[in-house]
Amino acid sequence: MVTVEELFAIDALLSPEEREIRDTVARFGEKRLRPHIAEWFEAGTFPAREIAPELGKLGLLGMHLEGYGCAGASATAYGLACQELEAVDSGVRSMVSVQGSLAMTAIHFFGSEEQKQQYLPAMAAGELIGCFGLTEPDYGSNPGGMRTRARRDGDDWVLNGSKMWITNGSVADIAVVWAYAEEPGDDKPRVRGFLVPAGTPGFTTREIHRKLSLRASLTAALDFDDVRLPADAVLPESRGLSSPLACLSEARFGIVFGALGAARDCLAAAVDYARTREVFDKPLAGYQLTQAKLADMALELGKGQLLALHLGRLKDRHEITSEQISAGKLNSTREAIRIARECRTILGANGITLDYPVLRHANNLESVLTYEGTAEVHQLVLGKALTDANAFR
Ligand code: FAD
Repeated sequence: MVTVEELFAIDALLSPEEREIRDTVARFGEKRLRPHIAEWFEAGTFPAREIAPELGKLGLLGMHLEGYGCAGASATAYGLACQELEAVDSGVRSMVSVQGSLAMTAIHFFGSEEQKQQYLPAMAAGELIGCFGLTEPDYGSNPGGMRTRARRDGDDWVLNGSKMWITNGSVADIAVVWAYAEEPGDDKPRVRGFLVPAGTPGFTTREIHRKLSLRASLTAALDFDDVRLPADAVLPESRGLSSPLACLSEARFGIVFGALGAARDCLAAAVDYARTREVFDKPLAGYQLTQAKLADMALELGKGQLLALHLGRLKDRHEITSEQISAGKLNSTREAIRIARECRTILGANGITLDYPVLRHANNLESVLTYEGTAEVHQLVLGKALTDANAFR
């Protein structure tokens, strides 16, 4: 028997250090997270406060960033870590993506030296949790329409508006919030990032319940009612919508690898099940229809892993484009959800329970397909690149 990694000789493409990082994260996932994940998913919770310091200890928070207590790992190593975390659950990988690729990256890219010193080391250690508020109730795929506003009052800023679907929102110590900043002298407001500590008067969070996807992840709505912030709450280098979009590109890259981890876990469960489950007096794995399903899924998974690695190498050489990340995100999420659903068919009725990971992964992947740019938005990105015609509006 071979795994998909063996079939495609993936290890031959990784350095010893990359394999070591991947295997360390995989061991942590299996030992520390997997035994509890079904329980967290069922309860609709995630012990972020308890797990974050452990992720920090492993160097997984802001892993690809340099300095300020961050690991400074390669993009490929970061991708492999995401793959192993998401093999346990997309919720765990989401926590790491939001902390490292969104909140910490925003501060690293656009913050002042004081802001970096104040927040990044504690966030890298998992002592402080961050969130990233871009989406609003009425503006998801089109964040440029956001209504949240920051106006000047003397030296202070006054923030009003609301954000929706914010991962880690209810537990975060520090929220990176994107708003149109109205500044004297500017002819029109432009999007800027603001650091809003939890507990600031006027800032409230509301956890979103009744989710059928990413249940082992905390998702919240954030409200800002005349929230008064000091002058230095703004990320000084953030200038326009391209700033949050640059952070999203970083997180999207992790998903290119991450979603395939979920798919791999489903395929492993399906192979395992098919080899022992007997139907019509012989194991399901011995039927041609089952093998056709498994072969097709292995092909898509292997091709996805090769594409992810290729993108990782491009990113490590600082040559990757946002269209290439879109291609990877679209491919990985779309194929991963197809694989998860197909694996579910192999498990029959057992596949619908939390005793097996497949439907949990499939449900999680509904969110992964939607956040960080929906599948349709990435099709539009690629369509524009291929034709030069903008079909967004
Ligand atoms: P919409 O933008 O309303 O899209 C609805 C449908 O319309 C989609 O199918 C979309 O593809 C399609 N569509 C949109 N534009 C076009 C077009 N031009 N042409 C054709 N079809 C189009 N956001 C954050 O800021 N921070 C977070 O931490 C965060 N975490 C999240 C966690 C979860 C679990 C989820 C589900 C979402 C999270 N999000 C977060 C929000 C996420 O980024 C948005 O849901 C996403 O951008 C899509 O926006 P929307 O849900 O408003 O859908």
